Amino acid sequence: MDLLFVFTLGIVVGALVNRLGADLPARRPIQRPNCPYCDAPRPVIQWIALPTYVVGKGRCPNCDATIPIRYPLAELALGFLFTFLYMRYGATPQFTFYALYTTILVLITITDLERRLILNVVTFPAMVLALVGSFFVPGITWKSALLGGAIGYVTFYILALVGNLSVGPGALGGGDVTLAAFVGMITGFPLVVEALLLAILSGGIISLLLVLTKVRSMRDYIPYGPFLVLGGWVTLIWGVQIGIWFFAR
Ligand SMILES: [Zn+2]
Repeated sequence: MDLLFVFTLGIVVGALVNRLGADLPARRPIQRPNCPYCDAPRPVIQWIALPTYVVGKGRCPNCDATIPIRYPLAELALGFLFTFLYMRYGATPQFTFYALYTTILVLITITDLERRLILNVVTFPAMVLALVGSFFVPGITWKSALLGGAIGYVTFYILALVGNLSVGPGALGGGDVTLAAFVGMITGFPLVVEALLLAILSGGIISLLLVLTKVRSMRDYIPYGPFLVLGGWVTLIWGVQIGIWFFAR
């Protein structure tokens, strides 16, 4: 019963994240759900995309355009992620903060993949939240959160400088730097090192695969945010176990 509630909560939060993912990059206030193609307001039954998608009515009643797959996917992802977090941490402050961090990371993934934007209006409040969270989440203190944030910020600031000098402007943006700071604040020191390494490694491997398979060329832009999100989230949940496994070898 609890799990069903948490899953549904994730779906509803996912619908809100979808709205923010469309409105924040456009720098407009949050709007009533509407069709991105013809602007017609969506009927209330379609405000959450997943149920209408499942029964095959994921279309705009005005222009018949399909609801973009991102909408049901983000809802489903947060439904499952919330459920996973609840099964792992139960009804604790840790669950609440991890669910909020996960929500923010999904929102950042959407805006970075779709618009190549990681917005300060998302990352700055997220950092404040991470600082508050460091007082409630076990295994992290406000000092380790601030140190982790500083290490994330400086590391990606230097990577952005080097990237801009070697690859050209835009290889890494200011958004990636603030995202790295947020990731550092939620994982804290010393786990931030693991989060950044995972992000850099996964980003390097996936980029190499994309170039080798000729999906992308060396000159193409590959958004780095999703790799920071991946490295940060994996470290948040399994960072200690991965560290123990790594050093025990
Ligand atoms: Zn439409």
